[in-house]
Amino acid sequence: MNQAGENSGAPGADLKRASDALSNAGHIVCFSGAGISAESGIATYRDPLTGIWAQHDPRTLETASTFRKNPQLVWGWYLWRRQQVVNAQPNAAHLAVSQLAATGRKVSVITQNVDDLHERVGSVGVLHLHGSLSTSKCFACHRLGTLPEHQMPIPSEGALIEPPRCGRCSGKLRPNVVWYGEDLPSGVWKSAIALVKSCDVLISVGTSGIVTPAADIPWLALSSGATVIHVNTEDVSTAEPNELMLIGKATEVLPKLFALVPRAEQPQ
Ligand code: NAD
Ligand code: ZN
Repeated sequence: MNQAGENSGAPGADLKRASDALSNAGHIVCFSGAGISAESGIATYRDPLTGIWAQHDPRTLETASTFRKNPQLVWGWYLWRRQQVVNAQPNAAHLAVSQLAATGRKVSVITQNVDDLHERVGSVGVLHLHGSLSTSKCFACHRLGTLPEHQMPIPSEGALIEPPRCGRCSGKLRPNVVWYGEDLPSGVWKSAIALVKSCDVLISVGTSGIVTPAADIPWLALSSGATVIHVNTEDVSTAEPNELMLIGKATEVLPKLFALVPRAEQPQ
């Protein structure tokens, strides 16, 4: 374990090992969780909620059975969350990930986040394991649609809002995100696994490693022979030999780490 700053027992040791691993890598996967967007003002599930949301656990709100019982509550929750995302700006960590590809290495982004902050600074082909707040899905016929910002009311915190209806079957629209108890989109998951198994280094940023099966991704990378670099404000490593832990804020650690990675000598 190593503080990414200068005040730990072995200053810079894991930072040096991490930059060496990245410098020698041809294919890097960035695997992000809610912590990468925390400094953009989007709450993680570890942050205490306020107002009426403090009475609800996201793990209960984000289920099909709660939507069946109280669709207005669940839709209000998602509009409130989406409004947070619309108002948020990508931060230095999202930018650093996007710019890493400019060193001439293949960089793939896999995220558990339902926001679009990676894309808004230019990352392309981002795999969203848990879906996206930008799109909707019919609860009845599963037809996909978009959620144009101008068509959406700006909810007050805790507002009960009737979900819009599907243009095909009049079913209620739900956000196109993966709810607790639901499977991940299989195509996205398969693509993610293929990338993870073929990468040289996986950087796992701002994830608690609690929500499965996404939480298995760092382990899968390790067992496929990759080096795993964790970037988190807390120690989340499991002390495997090829695991490095950089403790600090994503917006500080990632730019500092990537500044140590030279351009690749040959295009990968
Ligand atoms: P989590 O809330 O369980 O954990 C967040 C992690 O980020 C923690 O380990 C925390 O120590 C770390 N962290 C907090 N601030 C950080 C910072 N500035 N720099 C680096 N690390 C920081 O998040 P999770 O593991 O992604 O899993 C929760 C689920 O919640 C996911 O399925 C995700 O879809 C959903 N979620 C998404 C968003 C979003 O899209 N932005 C926000 C909240 C929750
Ligand atoms: Zn429908």
